[in-house]
Amino acid sequence: MTRSITVLGATGSIGDSTLDLIRRNREHWRVEVLTANGNVEKLAALAREFGAALAVCGDEGCLPALREALSGTVIEVAGGPQTLVDAAARPVDMTVAAIVGCAGLAPVMAAAERGGTIALANKEALVAAGDVLMAAVARGGAKLLPTDSEHNAIFQCLAGNSLDHVRSITLTASGGPLRTWNAEQLAQATPAQAIAHPNWAMGAKISVDSATMFNKGLELIEAWHLFPVGLEKLRIVVHPQSVIHSMVEYRDGSTLAQLGPSDMRVPIASCLAWPERMDTPCAPLDLAALGQLTFEAPDEGRFPATRLCREAAQAGGAMPAVLNAANEAAVAAFLDGHLSFTRIAVVVEETMARYTPSAPQTLDDVLAIDREARAWALGLLETA
Ligand code: NDP
Repeated sequence: MTRSITVLGATGSIGDSTLDLIRRNREHWRVEVLTANGNVEKLAALAREFGAALAVCGDEGCLPALREALSGTVIEVAGGPQTLVDAAARPVDMTVAAIVGCAGLAPVMAAAERGGTIALANKEALVAAGDVLMAAVARGGAKLLPTDSEHNAIFQCLAGNSLDHVRSITLTASGGPLRTWNAEQLAQATPAQAIAHPNWAMGAKISVDSATMFNKGLELIEAWHLFPVGLEKLRIVVHPQSVIHSMVEYRDGSTLAQLGPSDMRVPIASCLAWPERMDTPCAPLDLAALGQLTFEAPDEGRFPATRLCREAAQAGGAMPAVLNAANEAAVAAFLDGHLSFTRIAVVVEETMARYTPSAPQTLDDVLAIDREARAWALGLLETA
């Protein structure tokens, strides 16, 4: 059986992993839409390779180059943020949501309103829009498949069980490349050091988030929406080997964990094949070679991000969107060399203290809060 697929963020790290799996199973998939922001060359090459019906660049200024790169083909082209939304609304069997940041929210909302199945990697969309996105999923009758490795692990551990039986859910965190650094060293960390993740190859933004632990905090908020057991039942443990991807503890004392290699093709394959299974080229786990799996409590003194994310979730309303936007602005400034590593969390905390809008009811409300919070964070950067 052939199924149709749209990959939002096709030129990124999750896009690469997804399209690698599609490439190995070409007969099962028809590629409808591929999107990027400005990487026209890669987008055009992928659109040609996979015979996509439509290629879209989020950056409208890149449209002439995309048109030129795909001239002589029957592939439709489009450019600009609204065309991403229109593309996501086209009916397909599976949408992989892998744009980075809140930029992916409006397309994910369009896919949710349309219904169908969404493999959600774009955690910032769910963190920022929370109830607004979950309401769109319910309205559209969409199926949200968690693609983040931790949430995919929880999804698998929950299979067939009621949330009523869950005593706790534990998200594992690698701790990132700076896990053992002291406060003075962290203050001096460079972008190159922060994105050098020991276990996972990922895009720059999530790599920095992993180093600050904002990634785990954002995942805590993501889990809170996807698996509504209550914030107090969600825990984080540092597990540097990234072999156990998360765990669910039940009321009878049983704990189910999902293990696998640190390769996003495993959770992506679980979503693409759901509710079946498919092959991946990933090497099987060799536990004897690994020798030991270790665990540590998170250190919120050196890495305050998980505390801030928990506080944002506790505050509810607009606060997760404010936190997310401030973090996106601060991470971009860090990557550009304008902010030190340890100031990322400071800028986020100060933005949360100063900008407290009321709870968003619509997508436009969330996008307005996102814009305003970035402006606040940018103002704080200048005084940082
Ligand atoms: P990358 O930076 O590698 O890729 C991001 C993708 O989004 C690219 O296709 C990029 O296009 C596109 N994009 C960036 N900005 C915009 C914009 N303004 N409008 C439209 N498209 C845009 O990111 P990752 O693949 O690492 O991450 C994607 C998402 O998946 C993130 O939310 C991340 O948190 C999540 N995730 C990633 C994991 C990983 O292993 N990488 C693991 C779990 C979750 P272009 O190339 O043209 O810039």
